[in-house]
Amino acid sequence: MNDRTVVLVLNAGSSSLKFCVYQIAEANAWHMEARGQIEGIGTAPRFSAKDGAGASLGDQLLDQTVRDARSGLEFLAGWLRDRFHGSRVLGVGHRVVHGGARYAVPTIVTPEILKALQALVPLAPLHQPYNLAAIEAVSERLPGVPQVACFDTSFHRGHEPVAEIVPLPEDIRRTGVQRYGFHGLSYEYIASVLPQVAPEIARGRVIVAHLGSGASLCALNNGKSVDSSFGFTALDGLCMGTRPGALDPGVVLYLFQGLGLSTKDVEATLYKKSGLLGISGISNDMRDLLASSEAPAQLAVAYFVYRAAKEIGALAAVLRGIDGLVFTAGIGENSAAIREKICEASSWLGIELDREANGRNAPRISKTASRVSAWVVRTNEELMIARHTASLLGLGDRKAVVTH
Ligand code: ADP
Repeated sequence: MNDRTVVLVLNAGSSSLKFCVYQIAEANAWHMEARGQIEGIGTAPRFSAKDGAGASLGDQLLDQTVRDARSGLEFLAGWLRDRFHGSRVLGVGHRVVHGGARYAVPTIVTPEILKALQALVPLAPLHQPYNLAAIEAVSERLPGVPQVACFDTSFHRGHEPVAEIVPLPEDIRRTGVQRYGFHGLSYEYIASVLPQVAPEIARGRVIVAHLGSGASLCALNNGKSVDSSFGFTALDGLCMGTRPGALDPGVVLYLFQGLGLSTKDVEATLYKKSGLLGISGISNDMRDLLASSEAPAQLAVAYFVYRAAKEIGALAAVLRGIDGLVFTAGIGENSAAIREKICEASSWLGIELDREANGRNAPRISKTASRVSAWVVRTNEELMIARHTASLLGLGDRKAVVTH
């Protein structure tokens, strides 16, 4: 196995380090060799990994010394060394949540670029520091291995000024307050596969609904993002697992002035306690809510659908009509019930659901005669990162064929 060239993909969060290893194989194909994560970093760290076919490659509790990106990466590097002994690491691709207004494309990280990305920490304090800590840990552990930062914001750069502006005074906007949009790697992947999966809409006006624990919409015109339901932060737009989505800013003022909450409490309320969890009081997991007969759980599901349909209407207005609606991510790919409810609420746009196709998560889930078609497409942000990494490091002509 000494002739393998691999790309490592890292997605570092506050308490987890997710990774994927892709082998760049013969015949211009990619093969996913391993996918896994270290969860519970800082509390009860646990490592698990699977191979490309889903077979377990390991599952173990780690000792408490795994408490941050550096020590997590230390463990992962050892595991990778044992497993991929002798392979050449072409590079490491990172998911980095914020590229700001400047980084419109994936970028090879240099010390200067790392510094520029650090300046964006105040714009994404819950994600950016962990993403960057992983980059720093890799440069200490694997000096000489090139690293590529792939931004969740990049795909949305180039929106019209009206779609980007946050209508506050100029001195505030100058500090970076504008609408950025996120989930860009997911949308870019979907846009890249639409010509094969759904050729009749790939060049048209499409709304992609990325419905996972975070949820957002992207309006695509001819494969390019023209607007998104996420704005300055990943709090805007749709109702999410623990985030409220669009909120009257007066509510936030009231949390401070009326209820006297601290900044930390307001942050925790907005990022960790609201959305599906806040409404239901039961769970942030859509599966639990769909299975529950409790009224608050049903209200949470109803609001999730209501808000999604309302935002679909808004983006349909931006696009002046749509040709297709695409569902992706955990809820979008797996929940026929939620797709049915959203399509039903959006039927005025000309979507006629094919219940049988929807029930089996078929790629096309609308009737043949439906004026606007609806689809289920699996996203693959890690493959998008691997593609960008290889492309920037000189293997751009290889097509990513094997995806899972
Ligand atoms: P993340 O944003 O964490 O990457 P995912 O895209 O993996 O999230 O989505 C995770 C969410 O998907 C879970 O919280 C769960 O609510 C939802 N989900 C997964 N499978 C189903 C299903 N069969 N039915 C409803 N919801 C599901």
